[in-house]
Parts: sequence; structure tokens; C-alpha cells
Amino acid sequence: MMKEKNKQIKIIGCGVSGLTVGIMLLEKGYNVEIITEKNPSETTSAKAAAIWFPYEVNPKEKAKEWSKISYNKFKEFCNDKTTGVTMVSLTTLIKKEEDAWWKDAIPENEIRKARLEELPKKYPLGYKINVPLAETPIYLKYLFNKFNELKGLISINRITNINQLQSENNIIINCTGIGSRELVPDKELYPILGQIVKAYKQENINCIATDFTFGKNNDKLAYVIPRKDCIILGGTAIKNKEELTPDNELTKSILFSCKEIEPNLSEIKIKSVLVGLRPGRSEIRLEREGKNIIHNYGHGGGGYTVSWGCATAVLELVNQINKE
Ligand SMILES: Cc1cc2nc3c(=O)[nH]c(=O)nc-3n(C[C@H](O)[C@H](O)[C@H](O)COP(=O)(O)OP(=O)(O)OC[C@H]3O[C@@H](n4cnc5c(N)ncnc54)[C@H](O)[C@@H]3O)c2cc1C
Repeated sequence: MMKEKNKQIKIIGCGVSGLTVGIMLLEKGYNVEIITEKNPSETTSAKAAAIWFPYEVNPKEKAKEWSKISYNKFKEFCNDKTTGVTMVSLTTLIKKEEDAWWKDAIPENEIRKARLEELPKKYPLGYKINVPLAETPIYLKYLFNKFNELKGLISINRITNINQLQSENNIIINCTGIGSRELVPDKELYPILGQIVKAYKQENINCIATDFTFGKNNDKLAYVIPRKDCIILGGTAIKNKEELTPDNELTKSILFSCKEIEPNLSEIKIKSVLVGLRPGRSEIRLEREGKNIIHNYGHGGGGYTVSWGCATAVLELVNQINKE
């Protein structure tokens, strides 16, 4: 495609947010460079369960709009096996009807109320939803390869001051996730620690998740997400904890909660345990600052879910700046 636009785009960050924005802008003819401290496989994005679900993402109305856009894009990806994206039937457990605020981001024919006999004991309410699941190792590699194919540049560097990238001819897009705490610096951003267990594959395991936290400190979740080569078992949502070493007690409690919601799980054999920091914020920061900086971070537990919607909103801001 002809490069029609003359502003240079510098994206900071190579997780799902940075790569998605990068691809969208390259496809629209912009010249794009990603500058990142870490490769995609070392980011929070590589630690995610990566199922379409707007968990801990705000503001809700925007999150719904952005999630809807991503849903449709991910659905298209299902036609291409190299993306690692498939549609799965997820049983979402909720506490009360009003909690399903995300319902209308899902096409009508892909959602229905779960029947009582489809729900685990002690969980009387839930929905059956067909949603995209991105197998992170495959999907991140797909995004990375696509970005390279479209002639995007990548350089490894830690940016300590966003203004070091300033130039008359640049647009800077900040996709640094939890890194924005120091880079911006943004005091509103906080880590929500998530621990997941990758277990060896078992047959006939349902995809099921709670859409609420529980436990003594209200910081536990339960989800069972079968992938092609393993089962992802989660999880936790511990605010302001940053210890990236897996916690054995948490692992035990994850296995216990997962067996409770999916009794078909038999003896669980662990492949590995991953810990990541969701970038928590009262609202996603997607806005322009000054003449040529655009922020796109703070996607909480739904960075994949809103990724294509947010990239679309970033593109609008880039087009606006480019016209000035
Ligand atoms: C256990 C767990 C389960 C999850 N499950 C889901 C799920 O099922 N569905 C879903 O949608 N979301 C899920 N999430 C949330 C999702 O992973 C995040 O919202 C998403 O990964 C955020 O992506 P990002 O690209 O904004 O940030 P990151 O993936 O953190 O990427 C940030 C990038 O910025 C770079 N960077 C940071 N600071 C600097 C700097 N100063 N200079 C240069 N580069 C810098 C980093 O190196 C990295 O490349 C989960 C998260 C966790 C931890």
C-alpha cells in the first residue's frame, strides 16, 4: 500500500495494545516504529488467558463499544488458523442479573441464559456465550509477524522520558500498560496481580468462568479455559501486589476453585504457572495529550477484549492530528 501520510508514528510498547494499534496504522498507510523495553513474549499480554471478556475495564459504555468492535474483528480471525483465534462456548457465572452489563456487546444469536442444570452447584445464575479465544503464544506471534510483514520497525529500548521522542514530525502513542505508572507518570494506575496455571490437556473440559471475585480478601476468581495444547486455570485479582514469583498457596486455591466450577477436571498436572500485572485504572486512558501524544493504556483485565476497538479510537485521533 502507498504511504500517504507523512507524520511518523512512534508507538511505545509491544504488548497486545501496541501491536494492534501498529498494525491498524500501517494498514492505513502510516509509517510506524514500535519502541519497547521487552519483546511480546515477555509482556503482561503473554500472561493472559486472552478470552474475549471485558473484565475490570472501564468506563463501561466505552468498554462495550470497543469490545464489540474487537469481537467482530476476532471473529474474522477465526477463518485463519495462523491467528490462533477460535470461537468457544463460555459459561459465565454471575451473582445478579445487573452484573451482566456486557450482554449487548455480544450478538444476540451468540448469547443465552444458562439453564440451571448447566451450572455448577452453588452458582444459580449464568450465561452461555460464544466468544473469541486467542491462544496467546500463537496470536502474539501472528501480530508480531503481521507488523513486520507490513514493514513496521521495532527497536528495543526503555523510554524514561516520553518527551525524548518529541519532534515536529512525530506522533507518539503510549501503549506501555502498567509501565505508564513511571513513564507518564500516572499515579492512578495500579497493578492487579493475576496468577494462572497452565495444566496438561484433558478431554471434555468445559470453558467456564466467574465474573466476580470471592474469598477472604475478595481477590480470587475461578476460570477454566481449554486451549489446544493445555488448559488455563485461574485465577486471582490482587490489587497492588507486584510479586511476580508464583505463589504455591495461590496455585492450590486456584486448582480447588477450578474443580468446584468444572467437576470434570480430574487429576491436574501442572505445566507451568504464570504471573502478570493487569494495568488497573478507574478508566482506560485513551486520549490525546498536547500536540502529538496519544495515550492508550489502563486496560485492566480486558486488554485483548478491547484491543481492536481501542486501536480504532487511536486511529481517529491520529487522523485528526495528521490533518492539523
Ligand atoms: C493472568 C491474566 C489474565 C488475563 N486474562 C485476560 C483475558 O482473558 N482477556 C483479556 O482481554 N485480557 C486479559 N488480561 C489482561 C490483559 O493481559 C492486559 O489488559 C493487556 O495485556 C494489556 O496489554 P498492553 O499491551 O496494554 O500492556 P503490556 O502487555 O504490559 O505491554 C506493555 C509494553 O510496553 C513496554 N513498556 C513499558 N514501559 C516501557 C518503557 N518505559 N519504555 C519502553 N517500553 C515500555 C513493555 O515492555 C511492553 O512491551 C489478563 C491479564 C492477566 C495478568
